[in-house]
Amino acid sequence: MGGREAARAILERAERVVVLTGAGISADSGVPTFRGPEGLWKRWRPEQLATPEAFRSDPRLVWEWYAWRREKVAACRPNPGHDALAGLALRRPGITLVTQNVDGLHEAAAVAAAAARGRPPDPALPLELHGSLFRVRCTGCGERAGHRGPIDAGSPETLPRCHGCGGLLRPDVVWFGEPLPADLLARALAAAGEAEACLVVGTSAVVYPAAGVAMRALEAGAALVEVNPEPTPLSPYAEACLRARAAGALPGLLS
Ligand code: NAD
Ligand code: ZN
Repeated sequence: MGGREAARAILERAERVVVLTGAGISADSGVPTFRGPEGLWKRWRPEQLATPEAFRSDPRLVWEWYAWRREKVAACRPNPGHDALAGLALRRPGITLVTQNVDGLHEAAAVAAAAARGRPPDPALPLELHGSLFRVRCTGCGERAGHRGPIDAGSPETLPRCHGCGGLLRPDVVWFGEPLPADLLARALAAAGEAEACLVVGTSAVVYPAAGVAMRALEAGAALVEVNPEPTPLSPYAEACLRARAAGALPGLLS
């Protein structure tokens, strides 16, 4: 298995690259991962809060947790890893960025990188398979919208409501037991099926179907490059592994 030089060669040679990122890339921006100590909020585990059942039985509690997460993440900035991926996607056609993260940091990096080059950010925008902390969806009419303002989760009466139908709004994220947005997943899998290389960054690659994006690329013959300080279930399939933090490794790998 190769290291940094092998990884560079694979990514330079490939015309089409699918990139899959997870919570690890944002750990370098200070966003807590679910597995770390900060994943335990008031002793609740994410698996108990990020579910449709939890929201039905206590929407106030679930919104309180999301309001806390939004506040934490809003104070975080994209790191050099996000910036390097955004730059790559603007520089080269044929890059598809797919993320499991809900923190909006890839999008922020894309907007900043495009502005610096006087270009629209479109090619660098990620397919956000698990949704976004900064979008809401109406439980009544299904309408989606961006939402960055404060959330008052002090009582059930103050929770955010739909301007159109008055229905209760929920975070527009994919909860445990819910399907991924079919259109986004289809686009991600199509890109994976055509990719000559797959770059996997900061994900333990155990959460399906997102991890299936990497498997689809492998099945289609793509060379796998992994950036993660720890081995993962994908590591045995990788042609090159960088056992390093994303923020440190990606700028050199993608320059
Ligand atoms: P995960 O299980 O995918 O684990 C994170 C991975 O990142 C691990 O393999 C770890 O070794 C690696 N890692 C840690 N620090 C790294 C670094 N500096 N550079 C590169 N890799 C690093 O993630 P999770 O936290 O268990 O989350 C699972 C799901 O929960 C995600 O798919 C996501 O939907 C959601 N989540 C999102 C965010 C976010 O948006 N930032 C944060 C937490 C959880
Ligand atoms: Zn509505």
